[in-house]
Amino acid sequence: MRSIFLLDLTQCIGCEGCVIACKVGNELPEDVTYIEISEQVHGTFPNLSGGFANHRCYHCTDAACVNVCPTGALFQEDELTRVDSSLCSGCQYCVRACPYDVPVMVDGVATKCDGCRDVTKAGGTPWCVQTCPSDALRFGPRDEITAEAHQRASVMREKYPSAQVYGESQTGGLGLLVVAPEDPDELGLPADPQVPFISTVWQDIVKPGGFAITGFSIVAAGFAGIIARRNHMKELRELAEQGAAPSHDGHDDGEVQQ
Ligand code: SF4
Ligand code: SF4
Ligand code: SF4
Repeated sequence: MRSIFLLDLTQCIGCEGCVIACKVGNELPEDVTYIEISEQVHGTFPNLSGGFANHRCYHCTDAACVNVCPTGALFQEDELTRVDSSLCSGCQYCVRACPYDVPVMVDGVATKCDGCRDVTKAGGTPWCVQTCPSDALRFGPRDEITAEAHQRASVMREKYPSAQVYGESQTGGLGLLVVAPEDPDELGLPADPQVPFISTVWQDIVKPGGFAITGFSIVAAGFAGIIARRNHMKELRELAEQGAAPSHDGHDDGEVQQ
């Protein structure tokens, strides 16, 4: 069955039931989660209200993670993006390419929400949706989910005048539509999610052009440079926090130079 998710942020109470159900159902390691819940404040003073952000994979139709993956470990199926970590080479291209900062590396391979592939293939409902006590999550055919999202946003505009549906146009249409109580930008949901340039080169030129070896080397070098620099800066930040960061001229002066 081809189904997508509905996430209604106007109904989420931040209970983290979805986080726990996902971890238990998918037998995730203790320090790995596919959903992150955090508190948010909506509106402008003095008309403020509270809510919860729900960071997770948006299952993009034009998915940067799938487009850059050289091994097929990330792939699309039934309107969702899936993961076969056994095929992952550990290159981290998907980690750098995702405009929503979703995939994570665990034991050297990439992982993320796969839409509970085993459960949904058997006709079931994803663990997170099964568990949500406030009806903030739904899973169903795209046309039904789209209609319900608009109906919910319409009702919520009485309370939240800017309530709207997010995800119909972003990255070819998301496999998770969000009912947002405010302008999505205010909630950290970009109107136009940006894919890093190096990923675009890989997706638009190297893969279809068949410049496999040369192109791969160029793009791999680009990614490797990005990754190496990020890792280097992370190490420097950690050293700085410990009060022992070497400067770029080799002196141990405790300052991190960006
Ligand atoms: S949100 Fe990121 S990880 Fe999820 S499908 Fe889109 S590009 Fe891939
Ligand atoms: S669909 Fe499944 S894997 Fe994805 S967040 Fe929900 S429970 Fe976790
Ligand atoms: S289970 Fe539902 S209400 Fe609880 S945090 Fe998740 S989405 Fe929000």
